[in-house]
Amino acid sequence: MKFVPTIGLEIHAELKTASKMFCSCRNNPDEETPNANICPICLGHPGTLPILNTQAIKHVLKIGIAVDGTLADFTEWDRKNYFYPDIPKGYQISQYKYPLVSGGQLAGVKIERVHLEEDTAQSTHDTHEKSLVNFNRSGVPLMELVTEPVIHDSASAVRFAKELQLLLRELGAGEANMEKGEMRVEANISVSSPEDMEARRFGTKTEVKNLNSFRSVERAVEFEIARQIKLIERGEKVVQETRGWDDAASETYSQRSKESSHDYRYFPDPDIPKLKISLIPEFSREALAKELPELPAARRDRFKDVFSMTDKEAAVFAESTPLSNYFESIVSAYTNDPKRVKLTTNYLLSDYLGLLKKESIDADAASERISHAAFAGLVNMIAAGEISSRGAKDLLTLMMQEKGASPRSLAEKNNLLQKSDASDISPAIDKVIADNAKVVAEYKAGKTASIQFLIGQAMKATKGAANPEVVRKILAEKLG
Ligand code: ADP
Ligand code: ZN
Ligand code: MG
Repeated sequence: MKFVPTIGLEIHAELKTASKMFCSCRNNPDEETPNANICPICLGHPGTLPILNTQAIKHVLKIGIAVDGTLADFTEWDRKNYFYPDIPKGYQISQYKYPLVSGGQLAGVKIERVHLEEDTAQSTHDTHEKSLVNFNRSGVPLMELVTEPVIHDSASAVRFAKELQLLLRELGAGEANMEKGEMRVEANISVSSPEDMEARRFGTKTEVKNLNSFRSVERAVEFEIARQIKLIERGEKVVQETRGWDDAASETYSQRSKESSHDYRYFPDPDIPKLKISLIPEFSREALAKELPELPAARRDRFKDVFSMTDKEAAVFAESTPLSNYFESIVSAYTNDPKRVKLTTNYLLSDYLGLLKKESIDADAASERISHAAFAGLVNMIAAGEISSRGAKDLLTLMMQEKGASPRSLAEKNNLLQKSDASDISPAIDKVIADNAKVVAEYKAGKTASIQFLIGQAMKATKGAANPEVVRKILAEKLG
């Protein structure tokens, strides 16, 4: 029997702000000294009063606009009560009934809600049977996004998470490195028979945590789908529970039975002001929309549309604003020339990015070494046939080394220009004609494709230095 998997994601992301969610401690994810950025508020001392971080609220509202969700008119914060050493005050401040954002979609996946909460401290269990708690992360603004259960395969789950990471970075809302725990994905997974699916009856779900890379999201979802199908086929039941992902063993394992929301005894936090969002000018949709950059999806569409890029090409640019800006500065000189736009795309994505990777140069530093005008100069030389593709590669390397040098003078100095002067090439062509009488005869008898062979011979004779277009022209003339 065939089963239909259903997946819904819950994604937490630490937000980039100067200070924490409810106090003025620094929000520094790279802080190495434990408990360096702490105060009575983020330690959860009784009697302290939280103060709202407007930057964090703005980040979430902007994400809401970017995913075309509904921004809350009214919002409040709730206490989510539970006991754990990393949350000494006995509750986490979160949003329950009134999330900042409801609805929306990203990468074709419907979003249920996006809300704001505080991150918890971090516990480590050391080798001397001691547990240590580091409060640097305690109270860091944390956004939680919940999708609808509308994903049906692991690849789409990963695509969604990657798109969210890209969006957070583009908005400056967070770095969202999964490996650093700045973005944490939890996958809810169930399987149902096609008939149940038809009747909109989902199977029992499990929730998988500890996914700290896109790769583990993909593998864990696949493992869990297979595990659940096996259980059902054996006549057993899927137990609703929270499971962990063991990357080394490549399997999920049972952690605890799933708690439900009423276990947390949510209630509105009496110490935090409720917000009437619509009364606060800096939170208005119009004001925030003005601050939004071009979003990755919009840029992908525009680059495909305006510059005739493939999906793959546009995707690379959507991932890098510095590279996109560089590209646009280069082609601004010749937007109406599709040939040179295409050459620019090709040379940037293959040779240029390859070079950056090989020499570990980032896109910003690279565009300082080769100005956009110099890159455009290189493309002009390629388009005019003044330099071969081999020569262009070498020239690009030289340009990267000699900051600010003009491509033409570098090409001349290093003998990279193709010979386009008839007087330089003619003798070689005469020899090719004399040495290949048979092919020449074929050509003259109407087999025009034979010219290709003769061009090849002439290129060989000039050791690749001749401009093939000029060779073709002279050959055609000489052969009449
Ligand atoms: P809970 O009450 O257990 O927290 P929710 O309804 O709030 O469950 O959903 C939490 C997440 O689980 C959401 O991302 C949602 O899309 C997903 N989800 C809900 N039901 C299912 C299901 N049967 N199969 C897969 N995912 C589901
Ligand atoms: Zn603090
Ligand atoms: Mg829930």
